[in-house]
Amino acid sequence: MAVEKILLHNVDKPNSHKLDTYLAGGGYEDLRKALAMGRDDLVQLVKDSGLRGRGGAGFPAGLKWSFIPKDPSLQKYLCCNADEGEPGTFKDRIIIEKDPHLLIEGMAITCHAINSDKSYIYIRGEFEYGAQILEQAIEEAYEKGYLGKNIMGTDFSLDMYVHRGYGAYICGEETALLESIEGYRGQPRKKPPFPALAGLNGKPTVINNVESLACIPGIIRKGSKWFANMGPEKSPGPKLFCVSGHIEKPGVYELPMGTTGREIIYEVCGGIKAGRKFKAVIPGGVTAPMLVEKDLDLSMDFDTMAQAGSMLGSGAVIVMDDTTCMVRTSYIINRFFSHESCGKCTPCREGTIWMTQILERMENGEGRPGDVEELERLCDNIFGRTFCPLGDGAVMALRGCLKHFREEFVYHVENGRCMVKGGF
Ligand code: SF4
Repeated sequence: MAVEKILLHNVDKPNSHKLDTYLAGGGYEDLRKALAMGRDDLVQLVKDSGLRGRGGAGFPAGLKWSFIPKDPSLQKYLCCNADEGEPGTFKDRIIIEKDPHLLIEGMAITCHAINSDKSYIYIRGEFEYGAQILEQAIEEAYEKGYLGKNIMGTDFSLDMYVHRGYGAYICGEETALLESIEGYRGQPRKKPPFPALAGLNGKPTVINNVESLACIPGIIRKGSKWFANMGPEKSPGPKLFCVSGHIEKPGVYELPMGTTGREIIYEVCGGIKAGRKFKAVIPGGVTAPMLVEKDLDLSMDFDTMAQAGSMLGSGAVIVMDDTTCMVRTSYIINRFFSHESCGKCTPCREGTIWMTQILERMENGEGRPGDVEELERLCDNIFGRTFCPLGDGAVMALRGCLKHFREEFVYHVENGRCMVKGGF
């Protein structure tokens, strides 16, 4: 499947992370163009492009920018969410490590649009190498005048900082991220007020994902129509899919939004590993309920995935073959959520541990009669009753598994072992 690369067009070049390489490919010319544009025009351009946030929620980026108050006396911030903690997700990392100036340029354009002179990249603690690359790239950008005072001879100035997290998944939630930057324990805030009005240090703040910000220079260069015409009308543009699991060619692929699961698995990634049979796919990170064979021809975009009862999420496609035990899979996923629950609200703090304990004994052949029904009851009591989406995410993952593979859970309880041949 031949696709023009916009987000990954630099990553295979030698020294792709260096400023000289970026400049040789026309880098920072889109910032120059954006600085000559009015702020309202820039916001409108991104609105017209139809760009929706690539972090998982799919909120329209231009609309988010337009919520920032215009009062010039107010301090405003841009925070780039580079936490990328969703299991199976490794798409932002490739931009951070291989093309950091694309992100910096996208951030500079965004800051100009919202009239901000301070920006942060919040990067997860485990991405030590990525943090170093970003620090070096930011230093290069300061040296050449793409950051700092009076950028390109204009009155626009911008400072940029890398802020390393400490490895908590919940800090990928935008308000927990703000708490963490401010030096507090990373726990979600009550909304409203939303960050656009009261974000970092109580000031108006835009929080965008790495991939979303990396789309911005391309929109400036090629126009909003180019972006809007790629893929489905309501979810347009290029999308990074990170594909892992039982697949011949795992990796990060730039494809038009709306590519189907079947195209990704069989045309782009060479099919199921070792010629085995497909069983299920998680389309957007482990919070996204899994899909099965009949769903493979659906368009992978925000709305179609939601209609199918799942989510595009972060675009983390995890493929499972017919040797996969769904009880074990659910146990591993729930163990992750119970470990990462921040503890602020009871349904998530207690419920995720409870679900994990039941799944663990089922997996160990010690399931009890009524365990499957107990799991379903717990899902009903947790869903919609948690303070932030993490608790719902844990439930949605388990519900997705039970919906398609309930008989495997029952078999584990009744027989004390797995019904999947060749599974573990
Ligand atoms: Fe914390 Fe509650 Fe969110 Fe779970 S749902 S991460 S306990 S705030």
